Amino acid sequence: AAKRDGRGNFRFFSPAMNAATHEHLMLETKMWAALERGGFEVHLQAQVSLETGRVIGAEALLRWHDPELGSIEPSRFIPIAEESGLILPLGDWVLARAMALLAEWQHEGLGGLRLAVNLSARQFGGGALLSRLDQLLAQHQIDPSRLELEITETAAMRDPENTRALLRQLRARGFKLAIDDFGTGYSSLAYLKLFAIDRIKIDRGFVKDIEHDPNDAAIVGATIGLAHSLGLSVVAEGVETQAQWGFLRDKRSDEAQGYLFGRPMPAREFGEFVRAQAQPVPGP
Ligand code: C2E
Ligand code: MG
Ligand code: MG
Ligand code: MG
Repeated sequence: AAKRDGRGNFRFFSPAMNAATHEHLMLETKMWAALERGGFEVHLQAQVSLETGRVIGAEALLRWHDPELGSIEPSRFIPIAEESGLILPLGDWVLARAMALLAEWQHEGLGGLRLAVNLSARQFGGGALLSRLDQLLAQHQIDPSRLELEITETAAMRDPENTRALLRQLRARGFKLAIDDFGTGYSSLAYLKLFAIDRIKIDRGFVKDIEHDPNDAAIVGATIGLAHSLGLSVVAEGVETQAQWGFLRDKRSDEAQGYLFGRPMPAREFGEFVRAQAQPVPGP
């Protein structure tokens, strides 16, 4: 069905759009309830040193299980949380959970591990981030260098001046900073020298066909070289095969993350997982 609006343009109200809007609102409502009732969980995915195969840390990944709908993918609920503003309390919950986990690790003899947390553009642009992190640091008595904050290129470039200032302040506090999904945004190279970051995470899209696609292989090799010459370390995302691991190790990527080394898992399993790895994963 189409209607004329005041300027003579047609506006469309399709059944599909109504259904999408309806679903959107339904999920948003359910997310608010889940946040209040403890329906969210943080899972941890190992990051390993490519040289030794040992676990050096983890990335915190949000999980949502709804009693009626079952498990809902982050790719479905994060965009809705971003749009509705729910990502602010939700992201805050993830940060608090991450700091609590770091404190637990310290007491359990896993204090050398680092934990990476994804930040949305909204959290990053809001102005409340720094004071909130300070508060959590003091509450949990955490070494800030154990926490890594991941932001995407797209989020960083939304307001480059603000990003630049905030990254500087975060780095001055001692936090580690990583650019997530590197290579999927725009102006990937110019800002590397502008922003005070520690690491880049090469997007899974480049790693997937690394053995068969010479362009991907060239891009990954050159990116690692560039990062190293700028003094940054590199994590490769989405490593699933021994051959990918071998390639990345030969190219001197520092670390890797992917199903080959471990799926995201509940936090209580992760400590066991790390201890079971006293023997490193056998190399390619
Ligand atoms: P990301 O930060 O790039 O996280 C990596 C994603 O790749 C995760 O998907 C992870 O499960 C998946 N992955 C890891 N290894 C492999 C592999 O070997 N093969 C394949 N096929 N996939 C792999 P997940 O957990 O579904 O999260 C998707 C995205 O949702 C994340 O991408 C991140 O952008 C966002 N996200 C997750 N948790 C949070 C959060 O707490 N806050 C915010 N703002 N975003 C989050
Ligand atoms: Mg990430
Ligand atoms: Mg990523
Ligand atoms: Mg991603």
